[in-house]
Amino acid sequence: MEENAYAIALRQFDKAVRYIDLKPGMADYLRVPKRELIVNFPVTMDDGSVRVFTGYRVHHNTALGPTKGGIRYHPSVTLDEVRALAMWMTWKCAVVGIPYGGAKGGVVCDPKALSLRELEKMTRRYATEISVLMSPQGDIPAPDLGTGEREMAWIMDTYSMHRGYSVPAVVTGKPLAIGGSLGRSEATGRGVAITTLEALKRKNIPVDKARVVVQGFGKVGAPAAYLIEERGAKVIAVSDANGGVYNPNGIKIRELLAYAKTCGSVVGYPYAEPITNAELLELECDVLMPCALEKQITAANAPRVRAAIIAEGANGPLTPEADEILVGKGVFIIPDILCNAGGVTVSYFEWVQDLQSFFWSEDEINERLRQIMVRSFNHIARLAYEKEVDMRTAAQILGIQRVVEAVMIRGIYP
Ligand code: GLU
Repeated sequence: MEENAYAIALRQFDKAVRYIDLKPGMADYLRVPKRELIVNFPVTMDDGSVRVFTGYRVHHNTALGPTKGGIRYHPSVTLDEVRALAMWMTWKCAVVGIPYGGAKGGVVCDPKALSLRELEKMTRRYATEISVLMSPQGDIPAPDLGTGEREMAWIMDTYSMHRGYSVPAVVTGKPLAIGGSLGRSEATGRGVAITTLEALKRKNIPVDKARVVVQGFGKVGAPAAYLIEERGAKVIAVSDANGGVYNPNGIKIRELLAYAKTCGSVVGYPYAEPITNAELLELECDVLMPCALEKQITAANAPRVRAAIIAEGANGPLTPEADEILVGKGVFIIPDILCNAGGVTVSYFEWVQDLQSFFWSEDEINERLRQIMVRSFNHIARLAYEKEVDMRTAAQILGIQRVVEAVMIRGIYP
């Protein structure tokens, strides 16, 4: 049977802790989530029937601050997947040095199969169910796969209705009009582009010679693609859940974006050849950006991957076996907990702005994001060199060390 995401997250953790001097029992403590909430709740569907949905919210660790992490709507959501994603959020926040612990939530559903009204009811009821955990000081959700600004607005409104006053800081990734932040919608993709530019420098590949392949054309992949294109790179292939398009001479990303908006998919874009998702991952290129789901590159296809750099826009797109094969081939991997940390970093800026009711300019946000991403990238690259480990292990070491330091300074209660 295929290994689940939590087992993978634990293997990555176990590999990294070998390089850290830990007090006995500390690793056992960090391997498990602090708390897990499972909710089963009813929603009245448009046809009058009642349907029961299952949702989760997992807090992995709170040593560095309130928990932070997105909410995923997908039919394949499981408790173990949410646990893995929560654990990765802990290391991710620590890696970029923002004062949060890790969390994640999810509802088992296919949001595309629900009407707008059903989706709103489900979201508001799920928000109510997890409100025992949610607060600006305790746990701050955000978008993830299958959710976006619209859902965040409903969650903010639901929480606020129960309180009797507006609480914008309870959730990030909101629309601008209700306390969202400039730059948040493209922040994850911007972080992917920034770390990719750093990796290109290290590999001595000039950006205007770089050929980039992007899997996933949503909230992460689309901005990553047009931002790297703006810097002079050529995006030669792009895919979404329905399939992909390939043009060795380069695809005009803004044009493709307009096409995908009208047609609902990149498939059929007239200025490129059709290509499957599986073929796309194996294209010869300088940068491969997996920005879709977990476990896209495994032991089965990793030997055929022909990228110099892999920028993990998604969470967990490589299995540990694929990781080993690719590191062995000399591929430079920008690990997810660094590469896609731009989203949660600007979520942090959004939260700070909401708490202060004082909003920053887009330039200020983008510049602060750039500084954090570049600094974190260099820190991890230095650590990888010093400890003679790959970038993922170095990132894990950095994240785990920062959490352990906080735990030790705070002390174990009571
Ligand atoms: N879901 C995103 C992630 O995996 C963003 C989380 C957030 O902004 O809190 O990093």
